[in-house]
Amino acid sequence: MPELPEVETIRRHLAPHVEGRTLEAVDVLDERWSRPLAPAELEQAIQGRRVERLDRRGKYLVWELSEEIYLLMHLRMTGTLLLDPDGSRHTRVRLDLGDHTLLFDDPRRFGTGELAVGPEALDAFFDARLGVEPLEQDFTPEHLFALTRTSRAPVKAFLLDQKRVAGVGNIYADEALFRARVHPLRPANKLTRAQCEAIRDGVVESLLLGLEHKGATIDDFRDPYGVSGTFQDRFLVHTREHEPCPNCGRAIRKLRVAGRGTYVCEHCQPRPRVRRKPL
Ligand SMILES: [Zn+2]
Repeated sequence: MPELPEVETIRRHLAPHVEGRTLEAVDVLDERWSRPLAPAELEQAIQGRRVERLDRRGKYLVWELSEEIYLLMHLRMTGTLLLDPDGSRHTRVRLDLGDHTLLFDDPRRFGTGELAVGPEALDAFFDARLGVEPLEQDFTPEHLFALTRTSRAPVKAFLLDQKRVAGVGNIYADEALFRARVHPLRPANKLTRAQCEAIRDGVVESLLLGLEHKGATIDDFRDPYGVSGTFQDRFLVHTREHEPCPNCGRAIRKLRVAGRGTYVCEHCQPRPRVRRKPL
């Protein structure tokens, strides 16, 4: 699934091609995409509107349209946006922007397009779904420490929870925790201030490095030109089972945390001690 750096890469590529243009025709081919709205309802709401700005919040692409109408796209597992492609096998939505055509291609059909009418509706939508933006200034070690106090979840699950930190997924959580030398199973509320600071730095460094390499290409992520990011070649631990840890040389292990394949060096990231429950 595309995470913050992948979605931001898509946004940066697309923005110059869509901003200032008009959505001349919108064709939602799959009624599942626009739920709870019917395709015709969504089409009517956005057709003919100018694209003022293409923005991002967490893993959402935010299309700011004229008169404060917002189209909120989520690519989920396999969604991708193809700009002026020769063809597309899994087109779910077609946007005609005059001199450009944009297709929402999505073999597994989990991607979505939702509507927010007015800035208050937009804020309410994201307040209900997303926490702090990790590349914004308010993502400080203190902020992260305060957030972790209310969660007994393993820190990996905590980082994957979009309502805590927006935009971090399986790749960047593993990379961040390795950088921070924190085991993914450590309960969030047991983290020290120093660990929270290290995790905060690890998250920011991993995301920035991912952005620098235009995201990671695993599964079906492609950017709008069908060109692929190369961050997967820079992974420190993610998908590196049995390979030597870049820090200590011991073998990287694959565990299952929060239902996700999780990569860890249990020497550099010591497992939390299990406290026996009193009888
Ligand atoms: Zn190691």
